[in-house]
Amino acid sequence: MNTVLATDDFCREHGNEELWYQVFQEGHPVLLGKQKRFSLIPGGSRCKMCYAPLTGLGGWITRRMGLEPSSRNPSFCNACDGFLKAYPGGAEVDLSILFCDLRGSVPLSASMSPKEFAQLITFMRETIIPVLWRAEGFVLQFQGDAVIGVWPPGFSGKEYASKAVNGGMQLPKAIEGKPFNGSKLPIGMAIHTGRAYLSTVASLSADMQEVSAFGFDVNVAARLADSAKAGEVLISEAALKAAGRTIDASKLRSYELRGVDDPVRASLLKVP
Ligand SMILES: [Zn+2]
Repeated sequence: MNTVLATDDFCREHGNEELWYQVFQEGHPVLLGKQKRFSLIPGGSRCKMCYAPLTGLGGWITRRMGLEPSSRNPSFCNACDGFLKAYPGGAEVDLSILFCDLRGSVPLSASMSPKEFAQLITFMRETIIPVLWRAEGFVLQFQGDAVIGVWPPGFSGKEYASKAVNGGMQLPKAIEGKPFNGSKLPIGMAIHTGRAYLSTVASLSADMQEVSAFGFDVNVAARLADSAKAGEVLISEAALKAAGRTIDASKLRSYELRGVDDPVRASLLKVP
């Protein structure tokens, strides 16, 4: 099956498998140490890899340490972006995936100016991404009108699956609390746990790199998010099991997902 995250603009890179396995599956001591230190410094936007604050007072502190937003990848600090450039590649790892998908984006975009729609997408990212950061998730390459977070154990710790479910459950309230021009953002969400190839991806046209996820379980998460109505979070049985949640079989529903042979059982979290 083709991955939903591969785009014409970016192609995935291979190599440095042991290093990326350590970063995302086992935990890299240098990166984990940085995350721990940088999390203690207050900050607005942060490097999505090492959590170094890049703006505000925290950004002033980290600039004095020689860190600044990378000019080619502003969502990474210059040190982490240098790391992506020096070590392109990836590895197959365990992970939880959270997909947040803007529902009805076509009619929505028709109801406002392109500029307003772009503002809405930015607003959606600014609403969701801090929740993913607080839950110790890693935010993937932005994909149109979706926001995608992953929780691999090397990055998020051995309780990664539980952190993903807890993070996902915070989202309906966060979205409810931040209306856009007076209306609640219509976002459907899904959480799934499985395996994926996490790797750097490079743009064909410009000197730009990001991290993305590929594989069947990524597609399951994306399709499950397609099945969620605005304000709903669908949590797959696999995600609940990995998070150590007690599963009430009577609350699970089967979802037929496009391109997925067997129905996927999931629990619906709906916040009124
Ligand atoms: Zn960084």
